[in-house]
Amino acid sequence: MQLLRVTVIVISLCATSTLASYWEDRAKLIKSDRSIAVGSSLVLNTKEEAANEVLMGYKFKEYDYGFANPGEFLPAQHFFKGKAKVERSEVFKIIKKLPKGASLHCHDTAIGSNEYLFNLTYKDNLYGCWKNGIYLLYFFNETSVGNDCDWQRLSTLRSSNESFDTFLKSQLTLVVDDPDSAYPDLNSVWSAFMGIFETVAGLLGNKDVWQEYLYQVLKELYDDNVMYLEFRGILPDMYDLEGNTYEGVQVVGIYYETVQKFKKDYPDFQGARYIYAPRRKVDNTTVDGYVELCLKFLELYPDFVAGFDLVGQEDLGYPLIDFIPQLLKLKDKGTKFFFHAGETNWNGESTDLNLFDAILLNTTRIGHGYAILKHPALYDVVKERKIALEISPISNQVLKLVDDHRNHPGSILIANNFPVVITSDDPSFWGSNGLSYDWYFAFMGMASRNEDLRFLKQLAMNSIEFSAMEEAEKEAAYSKWRSDWEKFVDDILVDTPTVINIR
Ligand SMILES: [Zn+2]
Repeated sequence: MQLLRVTVIVISLCATSTLASYWEDRAKLIKSDRSIAVGSSLVLNTKEEAANEVLMGYKFKEYDYGFANPGEFLPAQHFFKGKAKVERSEVFKIIKKLPKGASLHCHDTAIGSNEYLFNLTYKDNLYGCWKNGIYLLYFFNETSVGNDCDWQRLSTLRSSNESFDTFLKSQLTLVVDDPDSAYPDLNSVWSAFMGIFETVAGLLGNKDVWQEYLYQVLKELYDDNVMYLEFRGILPDMYDLEGNTYEGVQVVGIYYETVQKFKKDYPDFQGARYIYAPRRKVDNTTVDGYVELCLKFLELYPDFVAGFDLVGQEDLGYPLIDFIPQLLKLKDKGTKFFFHAGETNWNGESTDLNLFDAILLNTTRIGHGYAILKHPALYDVVKERKIALEISPISNQVLKLVDDHRNHPGSILIANNFPVVITSDDPSFWGSNGLSYDWYFAFMGMASRNEDLRFLKQLAMNSIEFSAMEEAEKEAAYSKWRSDWEKFVDDILVDTPTVINIR
């Protein structure tokens, strides 16, 4: 429909010849183009219009400065280099205050702030050891230190080596001064990225530490004005210092209890759901086991476990097509899917073809979907079925799919009003947290100069609409979000009394 409407205007433009009608047609064509993007159909009330003036005053100033000084435009810089400058942006400060709704794509052990993660390494009884090129961490009682590795107590290492903390920090993050030389290609950054998951596994696999960490994750999201979370995880076994181990359903129970505790302490937080997302780099028998486990989780925790996904670097193989019988079994039992698919720059390889399988399997949302623009047959399906694409700007840049957010496929998806949500993926490992940093890049880098508060409002509403919440929960979430939104609009007008009108 949209293509048809633009075509009609172009034809009328060609058929006219006077100068006045040319300007008229030009204005119509631009207006038509701008009327399509995410959020463009929303109508702001008087207060929102005033708040929008403030926001857009800052956006135009920052955007136009970038247009004149392209080397300083933050969405064109690597996040590691631009992060501190983003934090000084007035646009970013407004986005931080904005009620952003739900966070729908992140991975459990990579969500909390890196500072908090590092502080956990000061806990007693933590040991470290090199194994197969990865620095591992694990809690032991003094009397039960494992003999599978040369485990050394961190407190001892710290007291004997003043540079130990610098070393340890480097094992918990991808952040480096010069990312281009540290990670020359996509495979090298993915290798370092996957290594961090292994490093933190033993630290966060301790049941008590995990509960503390997950509580902090929810608190950090809450503080970033996020009201609901859907997070993925491989569901590793857990342990405690008394020698107990926990697996499968028990681990889901530990997650669930922690979320319930947080909800009790912060009743206006709308809750969290868990997407069981084990590793894809496995054989069929292992996936048979995943299916059985997933069905068990759904039966025991139908209000907490949202569905299923598979994780791991897609370009290295193990595409969805390898597991169709198992995935069809899950589908037939009514399981919702949230597949990572098309997280790639390639075209015609198994990675982008994952998009076809995800859609044929009736996926509820698509993680990344970065390659979807190369497959026009999928456009209408995604729009008609409202299969939300989870766009993670910083992840895609750090993991080397894109350098400059203006060139991210998200810019075209946003301009064409695809169902999108903006997500954070693994913020801990690149020094981000919450959702605000990713929202900033979507607003400043992917959306056009003219996209305004309506775009941000639509993103927040999308995150509730495309969540796995039940209808009644969505209504409650919308109701809470609307009151937060009104307060946010009021606060902008109070906090920033000087309206900068530079339109
Ligand atoms: Zn992901």
